[in-house]
This record gives sequence, structure tokens and C-alpha cells, in this order.
Amino acid sequence: MITKESVLQDIKDHDIRYIRLMFTDMLGQIKNVEVPATKIEKVLQNEQMFDGSSVEGFVRIQEADMYLYPDMDTWLILSWEQLKEGKVARFFCDVHRPSKEPFPGDPRQILKKQIAQMKKLGFEKLNVGVEPEFFLFKQDSENPYSLKYTDQGGYFDLAPVDSSEDCRRNIALELQKLGFNIEASHHEVAYSQHEINFMFDNALQTCDNIQTFKLVVKNVARRHGFHATFMPKPVFGINGSGMHTNLSLESASGENVFFDPNSHNKLSQTAHEFLSGVLTYAKEFCLITNPIVNSYKRLVPGYEAPCYISWSEANRSTMIRIPASRGRSTRIEVRNVDPTANPYLAIASILAAGLEGIKNKLDVKPVEKNLFALSNEERAELGVSNLPSNLEEAIESFKKSVLIKDVLGKHLTEKLIIAKQKEWDSYKTYISDWEIKSYLHKY
Ligand code: GLN
Ligand code: MG
Ligand code: MG
Ligand code: MG
Repeated sequence: MITKESVLQDIKDHDIRYIRLMFTDMLGQIKNVEVPATKIEKVLQNEQMFDGSSVEGFVRIQEADMYLYPDMDTWLILSWEQLKEGKVARFFCDVHRPSKEPFPGDPRQILKKQIAQMKKLGFEKLNVGVEPEFFLFKQDSENPYSLKYTDQGGYFDLAPVDSSEDCRRNIALELQKLGFNIEASHHEVAYSQHEINFMFDNALQTCDNIQTFKLVVKNVARRHGFHATFMPKPVFGINGSGMHTNLSLESASGENVFFDPNSHNKLSQTAHEFLSGVLTYAKEFCLITNPIVNSYKRLVPGYEAPCYISWSEANRSTMIRIPASRGRSTRIEVRNVDPTANPYLAIASILAAGLEGIKNKLDVKPVEKNLFALSNEERAELGVSNLPSNLEEAIESFKKSVLIKDVLGKHLTEKLIIAKQKEWDSYKTYISDWEIKSYLHKY
């Protein structure tokens, strides 16, 4: 338990000089304002103000004053910050208006609201475990963001082929220092691509962890002269980076309600309805789980990423897979999510879709065939449709969604549509290298 007293004690014991007050903007970027530790009383009294007018998805100039309410449980000493003297710590904060109301555009509180909905339906906890993938590229003096590989390793390779394993291990070590429970770390399929798994936790904690994880990955990579990117498809023709999201619901007595030892596949009716809801609303929340133009370059056949809305127990071509473990670790794995998603909004949307499945007893049948090997007609016969194939389609499906707009609320929905429409329009009119290469010499 973290209390005011324990925070004050930590500040003394660890010579903490600065405190970062962190929050997340609409697009999933972590933001912060840093205050000297001498201001701790003010921070703990929820009196730290900031100007929200320049934060993506926040407010207009006239109503820009916002307050940061630190969440005590998120107090953390940031071991990777190297000050000459003393240390830096952080809180994740909830954003409030001067009137003290929660600010409706704050992604963290949008997730909290959805968790409250879940509790109303009688579930105590949503457990979430993610598998974020990322690339490491070389930085040089001219270009901090090159596409130069740092290694030519493949799946599960070791050094010397995986010549970035020291960097990956240092990332894992740094995360352990921060209290992360690292499950595994390995080279992924593509050159310079990696994955680090940390232990599942409740939805809010996992989302906070994802934000911390990304910061650590990027900062440690920089110490090695590398740029770490979570961009879903940085290189044409090889695998992209996803963030498989494993989910299960827990009852008040601590049971995993996705497990039923008496059903034919040991999945409960609740699990079945939940995943049916997730599939039913997939098109509508895809803008949230796969939010950028580049997200859709990953969701194409041939690179272990899903493109079809279906589930199965083992087949990895489907959007939802059921990992083999049962009992307490019974879970569904949602495979379309990518690491550019705002984790709070993504989990809130998936949870809402799953709960809708439970409320309406939805029933989507599994597909064990390899969907990539079938024609469009054959897939249609199986009742399987495609995920949106680009950002524009995702925006259109999102706009039609009553459920997801309700999850995000009016404020954020409106801001998001404007931002995403602008992003698509800018992309749509851009003349790409592909066009120049294909057409310039021909016409
Ligand atoms: N990189 C793949 C994706 O884009 C996943 C590969 C894997 O972890 N099996 O989703
Ligand atoms: Mg994995
Ligand atoms: Mg992987
Ligand atoms: Mg996986």
C-alpha cells in the first residue's frame, strides 16, 4: 500500500529530486509535467494544474485549465533516469476539471468507467496480458530514425546472429528494476524485431505498465545507439509488430470465469459469449486497436497478422485464438491489436464489446480452417468477414458504432474522428515512393 507517508519517506530515503506527473493523450502518447519534489504536498492535494490546450484530444483554449490527480498506487522511482545527484519518481494521474469533475477526454478514466460497468455485471476483474513487439534500428549522427537493421536474427535466435540481444536483455533488466515481472523475451521473426512479455495484471495496471514499458524500451535502446519503434509495419515485405492481448474475467471469489472443466473445450459459456462480442464489434473498434494509417499495412495475408474476423482454438490465422492452457490461465488472445493503440481506450473498447456479447448471449462459431487458403466466397460462406483494410474503412465503421462511441464518450469521439480524418486525408493525397517507382518511367 502506498500512502502519503510512504511517499514522503521514499523522497527522503532515495533523495528524490523531481516528480513526473504522467498522463496519456487521446492518441496514446504519454505526457508529463515535472515538478520538484519540494512541491509534493501540492501534488498530493490534487492541486497541480496544467494547460491542456495543446494536448491532443484535450480542450479548447478557453477551457484549458486542468488538474492532475495522482494515483497513489502508481508511485514509482524511475531507475533509468540518471541524474548527477538524486533520483526521479513518477505518478500516473487522472485528469480533472477545475470543477473537480473527471475530464471526459482522459483515456485512463474512460477505462475506469468501463471497469465499473463490468463490475455492475458481477465480474470483479479483467486480467490482461500483452505481447508487445518492436523493432530496433540504428541511429547515426545524420539520422536518428533510420531503417538500418541492428541485427539479422530470426525467431528465437541467439548472438552473434542476434547482435541486439544485449540491448534486449538490458531492457528486460531495467524493467525488472522497476518491478516488472518479466515472463520471457526473445528475438521475433523479422530482422531486428523483438518481443518482451511481462506478467498479466488487472486491466488498469496493465495499461499503465504498457505506457511505462514503451518508455523504458525507447530509453534503453537509445543508450545502445538504437531507435526502438512500435510502428506496426516499418518495413515492406517482412513481419510487422503486433501486441497480442490476452484477456480473462475473474469473479469476486477469484475464479477465472472463462474456465469450465465440464465443457467440451473447457471454455465457459461466458468466455464464448465474451469472444463472440469482441468479434461482433471488431470492425467498430478497429480504429482504436489499430489506429494509424500504417496499422493496416500489417493486417495483410502472409505475415502472421490477422485479417479476418473469426476465432479458433489453435489456428493463428484468426483474429482470436485460444491458447492451450486451461484452469486459472484460460484466456482468449486478441491478435489484431497493435502497439500504437492507446492501451486504455483499446482495452475499454474490447471489454465493452465482450460484455455486450455476454449481455446478448452472442454465439460466433469457431473456424478451424486456414482462412488465408480460402477464397473470399468460401470465407463468406463460413460467415467470416474482413477487418477494415485501411484507416478510412476503420473510420467509417467507427462512425457507425453506437457502442464504441458510448464507451469513449462524446468529447473524445468527436476529437478522434477529426484527428483521424485529417490523418487519412493527408495520407490519401500524398504521392508515395511506390507511385513514383511504378509510374514515372512508364507514363
Ligand atoms: N508479428 C506478428 C503480428 O504482426 C505476430 C507473430 C507472433 O507473435 N506469432 O501479429
Ligand atoms: Mg508472443
Ligand atoms: Mg510475437
Ligand atoms: Mg501471441
